[in-house]
Amino acid sequence: YSTAAALEDPIKPPVSVQYDKLLINGQFVDAHQFFESGKTFPTLDPRTGEVIAHVAEGDAEDINRAVAAARKAFDEGPWPKMTAYERQRILLRFADLVEKHNDEIAALETWDSGKLYEQCAQIEVPMFVRLFRYYAGWADKIHGLTIPADGALHVQTLHEPIGVAGQIIPWNFPLVMFAWKVGPALACGNSIVLKTAEQTPLSALLVSKLLHEAGLPDGVLNVVPGFGPTAGAALCSHMDVDKIAFTGSTETGKVVLELAAKSNLKPVTLELGGKSPFIVCEDADIDQAVELAHFSLFFNQGQCCCAGSRTYVHEKVYDEFVEKAKARALKRAVGDPFKAGMEQGPQNSFEKILKYIRWGKESGATVEAGGDRDLVQRATTFSQLFSNVKDDMRIATDEIFGPVQTILKYKYGLAAGVFTHNLDTANTLMRALRAGTVWINCFDTFDATIPFGGYKMSGIGREKGEYSLKNYLQVKAVVTPLKNP
Ligand code: ADP
Repeated sequence: YSTAAALEDPIKPPVSVQYDKLLINGQFVDAHQFFESGKTFPTLDPRTGEVIAHVAEGDAEDINRAVAAARKAFDEGPWPKMTAYERQRILLRFADLVEKHNDEIAALETWDSGKLYEQCAQIEVPMFVRLFRYYAGWADKIHGLTIPADGALHVQTLHEPIGVAGQIIPWNFPLVMFAWKVGPALACGNSIVLKTAEQTPLSALLVSKLLHEAGLPDGVLNVVPGFGPTAGAALCSHMDVDKIAFTGSTETGKVVLELAAKSNLKPVTLELGGKSPFIVCEDADIDQAVELAHFSLFFNQGQCCCAGSRTYVHEKVYDEFVEKAKARALKRAVGDPFKAGMEQGPQNSFEKILKYIRWGKESGATVEAGGDRDLVQRATTFSQLFSNVKDDMRIATDEIFGPVQTILKYKYGLAAGVFTHNLDTANTLMRALRAGTVWINCFDTFDATIPFGGYKMSGIGREKGEYSLKNYLQVKAVVTPLKNP
């Protein structure tokens, strides 16, 4: 469990930080709050708590500047007026550049976020590249319809970019969230003001630099690192922003929606939290189910909006499952995220997780793995497993966003499983679950083409796939009388 030894022996030395300012109108600039204040905030290495860099802190005034640049780039071009093919080629060149700098980008992401280097280098940066190639492909395939209306009319729809998109992203997948947001917005011809998460501002600045190298005109993508209640809220309230896309907590999502409504009623898409069930049926292959349930929760330090954070196991296989899940959790390789073979790095956000572990113990759930000795210092990483969890315990109802697995027992009710070999059970369940994604006999299977988003309080709208384009397009109906029908 100890990270101390690993910290001295990282396989990839951290890179240096080249870009730590605001990116406005194609230039890296200081924060201008209160007349060139040059205000900054520290971004930390989650392994040690040490400062990596002091990053320019954008505020309302910087958001104003960024929105003005985005507005001008949108209204005066060249971006929305370029041919779709030209936009496509810039996005493809960008994907090539990111691919070329794969390891450097991955190392920066690990340093700033605590994610595993192997995960960044082998999965997340390649996924970023794939997403941009996917969206580049859409750029010249977005078009309207010709509609046979009643009467002597020529009716067509134009699918136009929505304008200036304000985008707010979280710290758990800084690069992937950048691609989910920026990719479709650019493919559709919008301009953007992106506010990165205060914990992880660095990777977005580096890739944005590459995007300009690939030929993106100035002002089309503006990046403002800063805090939520200041920069984020200013973006949501701005009268000249035409759309907000947000990923983060449900609580903040409500604030975002309210700010958007109170200002100019800009449309909002939200990708929020969840408490996703992982359901193991009695006929499941238990060894496989244990492994997958473990992965579904602990992946990315448990910091996933779609983490399988309620493991429901049929009573007939419950004891066997818990015993094996415990053995698996105790075996988890936690430590320095730069080290090869690690499964888990340090947490990016700690206090809330510790609170829930305390509540879990107090509410009478059984601690199968983890304990106080692992929780003493910031750099510590750990995995925690509770069994005998009941539906009404807070560890079973609230999003913890950390490496805390909770195992619940069920008899009837659902009587169906995500993890099952029974086709009828799978079919019943996929229809019954009110969730934006149902993974059957798999989990966290992501792809550029598969839409992602939530039902209920998990969000509004879908990202990725063709569905995501809708978020960034307006539909204009054009009606012309026909003289000689
Ligand atoms: P978390 O608790 O996981 O950090 P948040 O939803 O608070 O999740 O943060 C997600 C993103 O939302 C971050 O970029 C954060 O700065 C931003 N944010 C937080 N509060 C606000 C707010 N009031 N208005 C706009 N954005 C916000």
